[in-house]
Amino acid sequence: MRGKKLALLQKSLSHRLISWFSAHQRPLPWRQTTDPYLIWVSEIMLQQTQVATVVPYFSRFILHYPSVHRLAAAPLEEVLSLWAGLGYYSRATRLHRCAKFICTYRNGRFPSTRTELMALPGIGRYTAGAIASIAFGQSVPVLDGNVIRVLTRLLAIPDDIAAPVTHTLLWAIADQLVPSAHAGTYNQAIMELGATVCLPRHPHCGRCPVQGLCLAHRRSLQNALPVKTAAPRPRKSHCLTVVIEAAGKFLLLKRPPGGLWSSLWEFPTFHTITEPTTANRAAHIIRSALGLYVNSIRPISPLRHQLTHRTFEYQIWHARMDMPPPGLSLPDCDRGQYQDFAWVHAVAERPCGAITRKIRERLC
Ligand code: SF4
Repeated sequence: MRGKKLALLQKSLSHRLISWFSAHQRPLPWRQTTDPYLIWVSEIMLQQTQVATVVPYFSRFILHYPSVHRLAAAPLEEVLSLWAGLGYYSRATRLHRCAKFICTYRNGRFPSTRTELMALPGIGRYTAGAIASIAFGQSVPVLDGNVIRVLTRLLAIPDDIAAPVTHTLLWAIADQLVPSAHAGTYNQAIMELGATVCLPRHPHCGRCPVQGLCLAHRRSLQNALPVKTAAPRPRKSHCLTVVIEAAGKFLLLKRPPGGLWSSLWEFPTFHTITEPTTANRAAHIIRSALGLYVNSIRPISPLRHQLTHRTFEYQIWHARMDMPPPGLSLPDCDRGQYQDFAWVHAVAERPCGAITRKIRERLC
């Protein structure tokens, strides 16, 4: 029954969406291209990040690495530097790893089918669908948060979108709705509708090109859908960060690969120190963990850093010493041992996460 309804809906939906998109799409730098490399980079950057934030990063990234070969040949450290501030750094590491794979094993050429694309390291079903449809015209769907919202409203699906079974159902529906021709434009159009018209709160149904097809609108359910059970509260972590300054230089340590902030540089941070710390205790930690003797130490106002599933509470100390010593012992961070150290005039000299830059700003 659902299959029949979807078949009827498909033609009308794709026709309306595609004509609306041709007139109303936002002019974004990754549009008007079928280059799989550019589409891939934009899709990875857009994961968990707003379009307005991505635009300047994308333009700068593409300027530095105009091809998959150039990206593969770049040092990871440089790629992470260009990514600095965009967050979720594992995306940059995965992008770089996959570029190397494509150049090593595929002579720099992207495969054209979803199945082959999904066999590449770090490319999932959504990204494979976007590349296969937009770059190669394959009739395969995409399903991101925007598409989920549009589909659940169009079809008035009351199921919990946080449940894996609903996700499977929505992929099946998306599969049936994607047209055999112009699938790439259709996919971009449905995502654009979710991003600009069918908004999470207060959708603009009055100017929606598919209003006449929308069951949620007909039943006044648009503000009640999609249904999503509340996510668990983010886990709280406390840690101690010490900023050590010597002769105008700051000590940065390099994190090990993998996990949060993989291979990024940061001020020495101790995740095992969770209780409030005195100046004496902080100086003692610097001495015992790093082998450094500081002349003075003062507290900096604490910082909170919010990630999707975790909240980090940082207590911060700013210590000074006369000269940077030539060596030091590398302490453990929250996932193994720090890999390297550097004394830098500006934190921007190394790829750092947002929290390191925020702490640096607090010192002024
Ligand atoms: S009519 Fe409203 S709820 Fe339905 S798809 Fe359009 S914007 Fe979304």
